[in-house]
Amino acid sequence: LLRPGRFDRRVIVPRPDIKGRRAILDVHVKNVPLEKDVDLDVMARGTPGFSGADLSNLVNEAALLAGRRAADTVTKDDFEQARDKILLGSERKSMVLTDEDRKTTAYHEAGHALIAKLLPNSDPIHKVTIIPRGMALGVMQQLPSEDKYGSSQEELLDGICVACGGRAAEVVIFNHLTTAASSDIKQATRIAKKMVCEWGMSEELGSVNYSEEGEVFLGKDFGHAREYSDETAARIDAVVRKIIDEQMTKAKDLIVRYRDALEVLALALLEKETLEGADVDRLITPFISSGS
Ligand code: ZN
Repeated sequence: LLRPGRFDRRVIVPRPDIKGRRAILDVHVKNVPLEKDVDLDVMARGTPGFSGADLSNLVNEAALLAGRRAADTVTKDDFEQARDKILLGSERKSMVLTDEDRKTTAYHEAGHALIAKLLPNSDPIHKVTIIPRGMALGVMQQLPSEDKYGSSQEELLDGICVACGGRAAEVVIFNHLTTAASSDIKQATRIAKKMVCEWGMSEELGSVNYSEEGEVFLGKDFGHAREYSDETAARIDAVVRKIIDEQMTKAKDLIVRYRDALEVLALALLEKETLEGADVDRLITPFISSGS
């Protein structure tokens, strides 16, 4: 809150970058005994967007998990679990899923992972899991190798395609739609809208800003003053729709073409529940090198 007469300047403290996060982690783990498998560089890489307070919370949570096991040292697993808890909410291992739900989730997440692996501009896969967390029945996590401050059009399109991968797999394998894709659809729509309205990445609408940010003045939001016509709004909707439709078609085509790889991934998920990026590589690579 800004009180008049108090400060006339706002100082924005940016979130720490990868080096900053490593340095902050170093400070917080000073009095925490770590197992040898803990790699703080990997942790720093896996926590983009974390503030100093988030990182302190991460170390605390990890130490608590180790304490609960009555262990003397904090392991890589403790850190992973703590991070996932902060990012995604607690695991809900007790939640009873029907076999049908588990199977659908496995194919859905395998779909995301397969597309992420096949597309050249997609970030490396960190983990795929069908252990329910928070509101999600499963998760496919990707980690950028560097902090990113911008994205190319190719990366954004591949991102939309990866988001479409879950539903594409469900449609190709089971030929039905579930609600599992709702957050994926939101994500894909958000990226596509930004591409069109803020980043000028559509030929049809050109490099014009069509965003609808309301002016915030003295704490009051003066509404979403739209500065373009209904006709333009309809064109924006059509272009956004076209971008997503194209990526959905591409995702389905890839799933059909690499269906064997998808099956292997989904079965592995049903058996192990969680796969690391390296596991996914190992399982899929034979299909990619021979298939294309
Ligand atoms: Zn999904």
